[in-house]
Amino acid sequence: MRGPRAHSVAWTIDGSWVEGTVTCHCAVGADCRMTCPNGCESWNVVDHEHDLVDNGACLFVEWMEATDGVLESYNGPSQPLRDGFIEPDWSGDGWTWTYIESEPDSPLTSRLREAEDTIRSGQDYLRAMEARVIAATERAERAERMIRAAMTMLRGDQSWERKGTVVYNTLAAYSSSLEGETENE
Ligand SMILES: [Zn+2]
Ligand SMILES: [Zn+2]
Repeated sequence: MRGPRAHSVAWTIDGSWVEGTVTCHCAVGADCRMTCPNGCESWNVVDHEHDLVDNGACLFVEWMEATDGVLESYNGPSQPLRDGFIEPDWSGDGWTWTYIESEPDSPLTSRLREAEDTIRSGQDYLRAMEARVIAATERAERAERMIRAAMTMLRGDQSWERKGTVVYNTLAAYSSSLEGETENE
């Protein structure tokens, strides 16, 4: 949460209504996402007595969405409304925010920011791949269990041998239809 590019605001004008949307760019486990599993009532639990867990979302963003008061909770000098990176601040009973005044990037800072974006997108990619591998593994395990159950059933089915001819004929018909398909390609 303390990073210069951790949170941003974007504005939408719609008729006579200006709506602010805040976004958190932090990864899982960042300060702004941590909450107390013991149910302590607190939105800012840095230096907390209990072990914290990830909330599943940014607490600042959740609070802003719940109160619908992005514009009202601005706590900075008068200036043009603009999209940009912001600094959230916990006042004790609510969140406020100010813009992070960005100075022109030095070439080194630009390179570092590019690297940061690359690393962040790499982490997102790895997380997505991990989820797909887990899902694929679960599917494979389920299929293996089904095959084993089917084999057990077949072994226990004494009528199987009597059906042998029927099964052979079915398989023969199936494989010749497959060959027919291959020839048509
Ligand atoms: Zn956040
Ligand atoms: Zn606690």
